[in-house]
Amino acid sequence: MTARVIPLVDQRIAALAVPLPRVPIHPDGHVTDRLRRPLRDLRISVTDRCNFRCGYCMPKEVFNPAYAFLPHAAMLTFEEITRLARLFVAHGVRKLRLTGGEPLLRKNLERLVEQLAKLRTPDGAPLDLTLTTNGSLLKRKARALRDAGLQRVTVSLDGLDDAVFRRMNDADFPVADVLDGIAEAQAVGLGPIKVNMVVKRGSNDDQIIPMARHFRGTGIVLRFIEYMDVGATNGWCMDEVVPSAEVLARVQRVFPLVPLEASAPGETAQRWGYADPHGRHDPSLGEIGFVSSVTQAFCRDCNRVRLSAEGKVYLCLFAERGYDLRALLRGGASDEEIASSLGAIWQNRSDRYSELRASLPTEQRTSARRIEMSYIGG
Ligand code: SAM
Ligand code: SF4
Ligand code: SF4
Repeated sequence: MTARVIPLVDQRIAALAVPLPRVPIHPDGHVTDRLRRPLRDLRISVTDRCNFRCGYCMPKEVFNPAYAFLPHAAMLTFEEITRLARLFVAHGVRKLRLTGGEPLLRKNLERLVEQLAKLRTPDGAPLDLTLTTNGSLLKRKARALRDAGLQRVTVSLDGLDDAVFRRMNDADFPVADVLDGIAEAQAVGLGPIKVNMVVKRGSNDDQIIPMARHFRGTGIVLRFIEYMDVGATNGWCMDEVVPSAEVLARVQRVFPLVPLEASAPGETAQRWGYADPHGRHDPSLGEIGFVSSVTQAFCRDCNRVRLSAEGKVYLCLFAERGYDLRALLRGGASDEEIASSLGAIWQNRSDRYSELRASLPTEQRTSARRIEMSYIGG
């Protein structure tokens, strides 16, 4: 057997030069990129640390006690994050998602939520404000987050069987505590709740049906996520990907499903509803979703931008380098200057990694410089 080689490269070093347009770009809420994609969804990573070590994201061999996580001073303050979010909103962002690492590890996160919840679109509408979490601290924090203005949560959960779940999180964390967190989030009204399950062949694919059965009819939307070749440390191989088509077929053998319309343009998940005995969607049984970024790329509608905890902007999950906004923020740039740079960054974007994946040279597909999911947050 050949040993798995896990490169140890710090992808955070190199930054792209932030464009400073000579003719300022004033935000009009409708900036588009080179493929005419609007900017709608801002994902904000608030920490690169996590209390789990999911093998597909933060394998223990790499993210060990010697790993150099970002020092606190390198991370954007809540005020800096809110200021950038406000300028992104002026360009068209309508949805904010807090993520990490594990976002609930960031101290006083509810204070950030409170600031972000006050932001309004140019038309005066509130934003869609949500958070993705592993659920480990959710029971304790759900109420404070809701009170601060968080609308809903997505919880990652890779199985119901305790032994499988502990193996998946590789931190010996019990599944019951995450289920308690989900119950608390539901009780305080942080819904509709989504549950994300990354399916890895041979690791947790036996949990597909138990998960579907558990969440069917609860108002919680279970989404099956294809295991992605993101980052450079998880030793990804196609053999471990369970294509969504296969997951769908497996669920359909047990529970009849009917396809549903996409809820919004750029929505990553394909939706399927549980059917009634007449083959029609039964809303009381709810729906499931499939995020198929490996087998069915959805770059065409990709309207997502990502902000790392240290203030770098990434235009694609598979990017190697980001734009260092922190330098602008801390260098005394005005709102107009930062907004102008954000506009230029987006206007110049042409990323579509997943669509090109198969035709890319191996060096690019296996580049050790690609950002990690735990750094950028998904
Ligand atoms: N720690 C939080 C959590 O797990 O929900 C937020 C950050 S985590 C990086 C965001 C999402 O990325 C999770 O739903 C996780 O399952 C997913 N993810 C991480 N690595 C992945 C991979 N290689 N393929 C597919 N999804 C992945
Ligand atoms: Fe942590 Fe989320 Fe990555 Fe799992 S997927 S290691 S919970 S950041
Ligand atoms: Fe968007 Fe990049 Fe994912 Fe394509 S590969 S959907 S451009 S983040």
